[in-house]
Amino acid sequence: MKKLLLLGASGSIGTQTIEIIKQHPDKLQLVGAGVYENIGFLRQLLSEFPLEYVYAKEADETLARQYPNTRFYFGEKGLEKIVEEDSYDMLVNAVVGFIGYKPTLNAIRKHKDIALANKETLVAGGDIVMKAVKENGVKLLPIDSEHSAILQCIQNRNPENIRRLIITASGGSFRDKTREELRDVTLEDALKHPTWSMGHKITIDSATMMNKGFEVMEAHYLFDIPFDRIETVIHRSSIVHSMVEFEDGTVMAQMSIPDMRLPIKYALLYPENVRDDTVKYMDFSKPIDLSFEKVDYSRYPLVKLAKDVGSFGGNFGAVLLGANDEAVDLFLNRRIKFHEIEDYVIKTLKAAHFIHDPDEDDLIEYHKWAKEYVRNSWANNE
Ligand code: MG
Repeated sequence: MKKLLLLGASGSIGTQTIEIIKQHPDKLQLVGAGVYENIGFLRQLLSEFPLEYVYAKEADETLARQYPNTRFYFGEKGLEKIVEEDSYDMLVNAVVGFIGYKPTLNAIRKHKDIALANKETLVAGGDIVMKAVKENGVKLLPIDSEHSAILQCIQNRNPENIRRLIITASGGSFRDKTREELRDVTLEDALKHPTWSMGHKITIDSATMMNKGFEVMEAHYLFDIPFDRIETVIHRSSIVHSMVEFEDGTVMAQMSIPDMRLPIKYALLYPENVRDDTVKYMDFSKPIDLSFEKVDYSRYPLVKLAKDVGSFGGNFGAVLLGANDEAVDLFLNRRIKFHEIEDYVIKTLKAAHFIHDPDEDDLIEYHKWAKEYVRNSWANNE
C-alpha cells in the first residue's frame, strides 16, 4: 500500500488523482491533502477519506474543530510544513505555480518519493532539485504526458544509447495563425485548447508554447540529456506523447488517446501499467493522424528562449518563470494583448542579472524580481 500526500487536490490533476486513488483502494491510500482556496473541496475530501493532515491557504478553525484527529496546516508556510509529516510515502505535487517548489525540495529531503505535476519545481530549480534527488536516493516521477512517455520509452534501455528526445506539441489554440494574426486574438480564443482541457494558466502557456519550452527544460533535468539533443515537433492529434531516438536508429514512441489519467497512474503505480476499464482504447480500424511538423522558432520564439535559458542555467530559469507568470496574469486580466506576453518575457530576461550558482533563496528572490519587473514595465507603459 502506497500512502499519498496530495497537494493541489482541487485542480485538474488533483481531482483526476483522487479518481485513480478511488479506483485502486488496494494499492493507494490518501493520507493527506492540500487545497489553495477551495475549502468546500477540502471539506468534501475530509468526509470521504480519513485524512491525517490537510492544508489550506486560509485558516478555517470551524472545520479544524470538526475534525480533531486531523492536523491542519494553514498559511503560506503551511505548504512547506505539511510535507515534513512522516507517515506518507509519496508526495503528489499538483500545486500550480512557483509556491510548489519549496514543498518538493522539503519532501525530497525527508526522503519521500515525488510524483511531480508542478513544472515550476524543475524549470526554476532543476539543478538543486535533481542534486537533492540523488543525495536522498528518492524517485522523482513526472506527471506530464510528454515526460511520462519518455520515461516509458527508456525502460530497460541503456541511457548512454539515447541519441535524442523528441517532445511532441499540439501547437496550442493558435497553431494555424501567423504571427501577424496573433495581434488580434482574444482571451476567449486563447482559452480554447484543441486537445487538452486544463487550467487557464497552462492553456495560455500552450498557446504561446512557453509550456513546451518549460517541458524541454524539465526533460533536460529529468533525463540528463543536453539541450542540443532535445527536439520539439508539432503533432496535431496528440496521439504520440513523445519519442526517444536511440543511437542505432530505433525510435520508441508512446501512444494513447489523450487522457491525463494515464501519466498520473503511471507515476503513482510506477513501473506498472495497470488495467483500467474506464479508458478509451485506440481504434486502429480507422486512419490515425501520425504526422509531425517542425517547430518554427521564429513563430514560437519562447521555445527557443527556454532552451537558451536552460543552457545558461543559474538563476535564469527562475527569472523566465517569474516573467511569464506575471505576463500571463496581465493577459488573463485583459491588461495586455496576447502577443505582448513574449515581449515582456524577453525584455525581462535581457534586464536580469545572471547568477551562475544560486541557492534556493536566490531563486525565490529572482522569481519575485522578474514578476515585479514585468508589473513595473507594464505600469510605466514601456
Ligand atoms: Mg505536457
